[in-house]
Amino acid sequence: MAVKMTDRTLEEKILLGITATATLILFPFLITSILSRDIPHIIVDFIAVFGIFAIFLGVWFTRRIKLYSGIFAVLAHVNILIGIYIKGQGLIYWLFPIIIGSFYLLPTLMAILFNFALISVACLFTYQQFDSFTLPRIIAAFIVTNIFSLIFSVFMKNQNRRLSEEDNRGKIRNSILELVASSSELSKVLSVIIEGVENEFPETICSVLLRDKTGKHLVIGAAPHLPDFFNEALEGLPIEQGVGSCGEAVYTGKRVIVADIASDAKWASWASLAKQANFAACWSEPIIDNQGQVLGTFAIYYRKITTPTTTEFKVIEQFVNLARIAIERQKADQLIWQQANYDSLTNLPNRNLLHEHLMSAIANSQRDKKQLAIAMLDLDKFKHVNDTLGHGAGDFVLVECAKRIKGCIRKNDIAARLGGDEFIVVLVGTTTAEDIDKISHKLSKALAEPYYIYDQQVSCTASIGLAIYPNDGLSMDDLLKNADQAMYCAKTNQRKSVCYYKDAMSAR
Ligand code: GH3
Ligand code: MG
Repeated sequence: MAVKMTDRTLEEKILLGITATATLILFPFLITSILSRDIPHIIVDFIAVFGIFAIFLGVWFTRRIKLYSGIFAVLAHVNILIGIYIKGQGLIYWLFPIIIGSFYLLPTLMAILFNFALISVACLFTYQQFDSFTLPRIIAAFIVTNIFSLIFSVFMKNQNRRLSEEDNRGKIRNSILELVASSSELSKVLSVIIEGVENEFPETICSVLLRDKTGKHLVIGAAPHLPDFFNEALEGLPIEQGVGSCGEAVYTGKRVIVADIASDAKWASWASLAKQANFAACWSEPIIDNQGQVLGTFAIYYRKITTPTTTEFKVIEQFVNLARIAIERQKADQLIWQQANYDSLTNLPNRNLLHEHLMSAIANSQRDKKQLAIAMLDLDKFKHVNDTLGHGAGDFVLVECAKRIKGCIRKNDIAARLGGDEFIVVLVGTTTAEDIDKISHKLSKALAEPYYIYDQQVSCTASIGLAIYPNDGLSMDDLLKNADQAMYCAKTNQRKSVCYYKDAMSAR
């Protein structure tokens, strides 16, 4: 199968180009040698032209670049030495392109050895043909060409290695940013970042520790290759001066380098643990957000006593920056979710989250063939509180109501604020009519207790409407609508009361 030129690698294209050009350039020399019937010349040119053309065909069909590069270099060296042996010093200038080309075709050490052998043998064949002025100068020219080519080749190889490392780092960076953009789980993103550093510096083992909600302790964000006993010991590490590398890095917001864990006071309490894990050094880089707040730390452990180089920290800083972006993204996502699902005044779930909870509560009740009570609460004459004491006092009453409602229900029950002075309570685990009645009156009583604002006593009661699944409705919308009707019934009746949907219907 012929390979399309566009599918070939750059190295292949270069080797094909060089061999094709060399064949075309040397072919006229072979014709001239044949025309002049110069047998030695014909032999040398024939080997050169057909040897190089065979290499061209070999690369074209097999694509084995390394093999044919080596054959090309050997052919050039041998061929020119035969030529010089037969024709003498007149062909010696061919050594220059061959010396330079060897560094492209062969590994550096092989190129040096081959070129050294080539220069030595060529000079051995021709030294009698040069005068004492020219010979040392021509040898010096070969050596200088060899050294310059070597330097250039080493420089280019270093440059290529650096570029490919950067390219590799860029690919890892992009894949991490893609994970961040797709809102992947933070621990997953942090693990990929850690693996990026561990691949870059194979002698390291890394972890990311994050500030917990209290801001006083560190929790494991990701540590895919740290031993479990070590992670367990570090979970909840206090953020304080002198508490390991990480506690101190987060406390001070500065990089902490512990070159020898065994002899560092900061590690005194964990030295035996580090020994058990076979860690000798630990550097900790704080992860700081744009507002200067320390979000956590990136820890790098070494098995030997060591201090970081500037290059190491430059690379690590790049990865730490990615960790910062991932953590900030997660925080922003959490904030957006919180704002979309919770009422900012009372911190109760809002209508959005209530609908989600209620849907799954109804599905569970349906599956378990249990009943479910939905209580709609609306404060009575709440406007009066706002009008007489101000909006701030009204807010205070709403927050206090939310607390009292939560105090009356069990852990699995759901309380939400629908908006204004309206709340919803879903009694999930309550199965008997007595229970439902008891809790609704408990709610009514708790909300009717006086509220104290600026030493002033305020009275505010609530009207409660109840709809029961499945008797009063099967869908969420029906249940909410019917609980609302029951609540209005309570309100129109006498306020401060509890009304069931079935009673509201029969009273019509
Ligand atoms: P009713 O007994 O008929 O329920 O009368 P009400 O005065 O409680 O009137 P209604 O429930 O219709 O109105 C609720 C009032 O709650 C309207 C609005 O001024 C007030 N309100 C709505 N949201 C807030 C809030 O976030 N903070 C405060 N302080 N007041 C609010
Ligand atoms: Mg009201």
